[in-house]
Amino acid sequence: MKSMSGGEKSVVCVGKVLIGGDNPLAIIAGPCAVEGEQMLRDTVRPVIQSGAHMIRGGAFKPRTSPYSFQGLGVKGLKILNRIGREMGVPVVTEVMDSGDVELVAEYADVLQVGARNMQNFSLLKRLGRINKPIILKRGMAATIEEWLMAAEHIMVGGNEQVILCERGIRTHEQWTRNTLDLSAVAVVKNVSSLPVIVDPSHATGHTHLVAPMAKAAVAAGADGLMIEVHLCPEKAVSDGQQSLTPRQFSSMIAEISRVAAAVGRCCQ
Ligand code: PEP
Ligand code: MN
Repeated sequence: MKSMSGGEKSVVCVGKVLIGGDNPLAIIAGPCAVEGEQMLRDTVRPVIQSGAHMIRGGAFKPRTSPYSFQGLGVKGLKILNRIGREMGVPVVTEVMDSGDVELVAEYADVLQVGARNMQNFSLLKRLGRINKPIILKRGMAATIEEWLMAAEHIMVGGNEQVILCERGIRTHEQWTRNTLDLSAVAVVKNVSSLPVIVDPSHATGHTHLVAPMAKAAVAAGADGLMIEVHLCPEKAVSDGQQSLTPRQFSSMIAEISRVAAAVGRCCQ
């Protein structure tokens, strides 16, 4: 199996950003969804100044309810791409359908497979045939083995640029949106060569829990973080309750740098 090695670590390159191995923590930040051009620009500019290396924003949104905002689609991809080029940073966005892979790959530097699609095998197979890094989120009810096997489905096709993302699993607990499984980070680091990042926003569902869990993720050995940030969380069309303001993001980065330094990890 391609990813099964606790020895030599794979490093995924996204432009100038290197993820995994001994590289500095990779920070991906941005709104849950691309809502509009000016809003995205105003959100990500301070976030990049505070230390984010890549920006995120969903154009195709996997919403629980079909009546919720589904994303701006191609218009959202174009906005995200434009802002990324303008700011000089790579962009990450979700692809939900195997038929959209080519389209999304035209605009995004990294393609994200969401938790709900972790075992969408035709999507994984299609992603195995492109030459772009993939962030593979852990399914909300997936075991670590199933998650690693989903990564294999991409890698056997020839695309070995896979980054795993722990985003919490569903448990009986109601005080958090999901339960962040940080032991999965340690397990994956031990058995797999793949980089692993953590998304404390979807894992916890609450703004005040994001920084503590981000720090814990860094201490547990995560190679990076994915954080939802919104200029005005109370007005966000999706996931405002778990989004940080750019100011909260900036203070979180300061706290994370101290934890990173304490565990011997560089945070640029
Ligand atoms: C997201 O990152 O926008 C998202 C929908 O996350 P998840 O697939 O982890 O729920
Ligand atoms: Mn979200």
